[in-house]
Amino acid sequence: MFLQRTIRRRAEINGIGLHTGAPAKLTFCPAPENTGIYFVRGDLPGRPAVSTRAELVTATTMATTLGGQEFSVSTVEHCLSALAALRIDNLFIELDGPEIPITDGSSQSFLDAILEAGLVDQEQPRKYAYVCQPIYFGTDEKYAYVLPYNGLRVTCTIDFPHRAIGRQSFDIDVNEHSFAREIARARTFGFLKDVEAMRARGLARGGSLDNAVVLDGDGVLNPEGLRWADEFVRHKVLDALGDLVTLGMPLMGHVVLFKAGHDMMNRLVRKILESPDCYRHIELGADLPDPESLLHYA
Ligand SMILES: [Zn+2]
Repeated sequence: MFLQRTIRRRAEINGIGLHTGAPAKLTFCPAPENTGIYFVRGDLPGRPAVSTRAELVTATTMATTLGGQEFSVSTVEHCLSALAALRIDNLFIELDGPEIPITDGSSQSFLDAILEAGLVDQEQPRKYAYVCQPIYFGTDEKYAYVLPYNGLRVTCTIDFPHRAIGRQSFDIDVNEHSFAREIARARTFGFLKDVEAMRARGLARGGSLDNAVVLDGDGVLNPEGLRWADEFVRHKVLDALGDLVTLGMPLMGHVVLFKAGHDMMNRLVRKILESPDCYRHIELGADLPDPESLLHYA
């Protein structure tokens, strides 16, 4: 039986917000079983909280933002990606402002902080959304779909008309080990002209070569270069895993993405939730059963 998980003790991450450039603190706190994952704005009166659910995603430009009219939390995906890989079901993530610390632009700090705090199995079984029929969303130019699969697999392709990127594909069976080895250190990236345009609008004030790969017309500006030649597509896998957390339950399926960003991920997750005939809620034994018997688990 796979049980729900939280963390053993609180863990803190300090950094700056990508857009505000202001100091930002995040604290992971253990949560009881069947809670889910919540962001808590500890700096606001009444400490309002927002659940990590697709219907509460309010913006998908550049990053994923959760919230309502009164408050929001932005750039949640790098933090949520680490939680997905570590199979954390229940957690309060307390913030002292509107942004998650950007850290180095990857998931590594979040992964390290949670592993340092320690994982705890709880008593209730974990419930998965097991995809049993394909679910598709997209256009000819970009798309996202999910197929039945005994596990969580992501196949991602990106295509940027830039000599340092071009077309890159990455395929991975996601678990805590493969994520730590292949995905967690992949940084977010942006183009210098876009960064300059964002700065002009008062955004990306905290953005620097310390927390993003930045490209100009010729290549990568970061003096240390890339962590992998295909760091860009690896980061897109990282983002997608974070966005999948807004499903509200761990997914079992093969997610295939072609030029899909945060907006398309949000639409895919909403479509999954609107297609109850295409997935089943299942609990798993210690070993994954074969596909036939798995269908009878529901
Ligand atoms: Zn990202």
